[in-house]
This record gives sequence, structure tokens and C-alpha cells, in this order.
Amino acid sequence: MRDNTKLIHGYNVFDEVTGASSIPLYQCSTFKQTSIKEGQDYTYSRFGNPTRSALEEAVATMEGGRYGIAFASGMSAISAVLLSFNQGDHLVMCKSIYGGTFQLVNEVMKRFGIEVTFVDETDLTAWEKAIRPNTRGLYLETPSNPLLQVTDIQRVVALAKAHQLVTMIDNTFMTPQFQKPLALGVDVVIHSATKFINGHSDVVAGLVVTNDEKWGQQIKLQQKVLGGILGVEDCWLTMRGMKTMGLRMDQSARSAEKISQLLEDHPAVKKVHYPGLASHPGYRIQQKQATSGGAVLSFELADQAAVYSFAEALELPIAAVSLGGVESILSYPVTMSHACVPKEEREKQGVTEGLLRLSVGIEDTEDLLADLEQALGKLKPLF
Ligand SMILES: *Cc1c(COP(=O)(O)O)cnc(C)c1O
Repeated sequence: MRDNTKLIHGYNVFDEVTGASSIPLYQCSTFKQTSIKEGQDYTYSRFGNPTRSALEEAVATMEGGRYGIAFASGMSAISAVLLSFNQGDHLVMCKSIYGGTFQLVNEVMKRFGIEVTFVDETDLTAWEKAIRPNTRGLYLETPSNPLLQVTDIQRVVALAKAHQLVTMIDNTFMTPQFQKPLALGVDVVIHSATKFINGHSDVVAGLVVTNDEKWGQQIKLQQKVLGGILGVEDCWLTMRGMKTMGLRMDQSARSAEKISQLLEDHPAVKKVHYPGLASHPGYRIQQKQATSGGAVLSFELADQAAVYSFAEALELPIAAVSLGGVESILSYPVTMSHACVPKEEREKQGVTEGLLRLSVGIEDTEDLLADLEQALGKLKPLF
């Protein structure tokens, strides 16, 4: 079965009892037990709920994993995974990590004695050099945010295997539609389902998928005792959103490709970052490990003044944080995701005052191109 068929038929999509065409909302905290003498499959919704199980099975199917676990947010999923490590453990992570993950590491995990070294995600030698005797895991996020740098997943996995380390990846930007890390040897896959998986900017949710029995049980335990479960209505919405993930991703990625070409050729644009462009330094690796450059890109205009006049002229994309919705979303890292990063550090990371990130929605490609063209037309050409 291929992915688009899998999304509709690959898991328990229909209610077995009534035949209902979508899994019902089991809106309950507890379950009447047949007898007090013994337990049963479902007893209490924090431990398990049939609506949540359906979503968990769905994402596991799409990632090609045996265990799926649903959380109240992407951050809840990331915390559940990272707080599985012990005091004295050390992890290596890519430096362009999601801001929330960075804060979790620096402001929470540090207090529990779990240390992290951040490395240039594109530099294999840096990953290797950072490994110490107490290193337990390597954590990736590729393509990175907001510069869309690409890490070679298989080479990091090979490095991890040679040192008996666990590999974890935040696969939010690609979705299982475009990148299947478990098949590339990664142990634990994490998603902010808030983004492309749900896809409608109306739910905050997180998912973890693994094939490893030990990790499957560990994350399930973390879900139960840390308690960050996804509510049933959000599970239902996420499943409903996910059914069209294939169609949405294809349309958005097709537009993203065209947009990246328009930007690359435009005299008011300094630089474009999109791993689906042949000129992108990570293009070949991206081609090897994913089936598309994805639906997120970033680009650099002359300066902040250019950014402001461009954003004001733009009509279709909404200005917002977040990404992965049906609507195109324009973000300005300097005042949004990177607002707390000191200017010097921000610039060092390549997040300049001219940088904008665009999450491409499912609008007609021609309309998006025309809108971008007219907004760029308001700017002074750079060449
Ligand atoms: C949004 C995002 C997160 C955090 O997810 P929430 O659902 O907002 O908690 C983590 N990683 C990446 C790459 C994200 O884009």
C-alpha cells in the first residue's frame, strides 16, 4: 500500500463496533469495568483512550513504526523523550534546534544534570568530536529552522551505531510523507503535529514514533506519568487533518519549489534557503534521504526596512509564528522565534534582520507567485 492509500486505509480508520466512518470521540475520563476482579484494555483516559489509540496507530503506520504515542504538544513529546535520560548523561544536538527544545535543554535538563553539546548540524566531524564517554544520544532536526540546513541522517546514524548511541529526530518539517527516519535507522521520531500533520492551524499536538520495544515502553510510561496526553477532541481533529496530509504536502511543496525559483531569480532577494533548490548546499543529501525539499523556505532581503515594506505589501500569507497550515504563513525570526536570542548570537547563526521564513500553504500556486512578485516589486533591486 502506498502512502496516500495508507492515510485512508492503513490503520483502524473505521469504528469496529458501529462501522462509523470516523473513530468516535471517546469523551470520558474513566471506563466502567466488567468486574473489579481484573483489569481491561481501557480503564482511565490518561493510561489509554480508544480515540487516542487510533491516532497513535495512524502515525505509527505512516512512519513505519510499531509504537506511536500522542502528547499535548510537540514540546510535551520532546520533553518525554529527553527526560528519559539520566543524571550524568550527555547528548549531542544540532545547534539550529527548535527554540523550545533549546530552552528545555538549558533551563530544565541542566538542572537535572543532563548535559548537551550543540554542534554544526552539517559537519559530521563536529558530531563525532562531541562524543564523550558519557554520551548517550544524538538528536537531529533536519532540515533546520529557519535556514533549512540539511544533516545527513544515515551518516549520523552510522556514527551513533558505532558508539552505541540512541538517535532521535524532530521530523516536523518533513512529515512522514517526505522523510521516513525509522527506515534510515533512526531510533526515535518526534513531531509537532501542530504543524503539517494536523495541517489546519487549529490544534496543538505532539507525536513520538519508534520501532524499539524498550523505547516504546519508556515513552508510553513517560506519557502516563508526566501526564501530557493529547485530549480526545484534538486526537480526532489531528486524525481528520492527517487524512489529507499527502494532498496538502504535495500541493505545498510544488508551490514551494516554484516560489524558491522565483525568489532565487529576483533582483530584490539576496539569498534563498530551500533544500529543493539545486543550488542549496544540502540538495544532494536531501535528495537521498527525503522525497521533496518540503514546504518551508526562507529568504533574505536587503535589510529590515525591506522586510517591513515587503510584509506590508504581501496580501495572501498571514503574518504569524508557526507553520504547516493550509494557509501560507510568513514569519519574521528576528521578532518572533529568535526574539530572545541576543543580536550577536542571532547574526552568528545567520538569522539576519533581512531574513523571512515562509511556510507555503495550499493556495493556488499562481496566486502565491503573483502576490510575492507584486510585494517584491515594491523593493529596490540589489543587482
Ligand atoms: C513547533 C515546533 C515544535 C514545538 O511544537 P509545539 O506543538 O508548538 O509544542 C518542535 N519542533 C519543531 C521543528 C517545531 O516547528
